[in-house]
Amino acid sequence: MAAEPSIKSGGSHKGEEAPLTPKCFVCGTTDKERVYLPCVHAGEEKLVCVRCLPILIHGAH
Ligand SMILES: [Zn+2]
Repeated sequence: MAAEPSIKSGGSHKGEEAPLTPKCFVCGTTDKERVYLPCVHAGEEKLVCVRCLPILIHGAH
């Protein structure tokens, strides 16, 4: 019992790329009761809320 893996005890297992505070990159809302979907915008993974999703689908203009 010499070497012990350097794993911090305490805390739930995390590892997924789930942000603690979701934020819609379109409207900027952080309403936790809203549903967010992952998407890729400008080559970056972002979240978009379902309210803005139709805008992305149909186009802003
Ligand atoms: Zn939004």
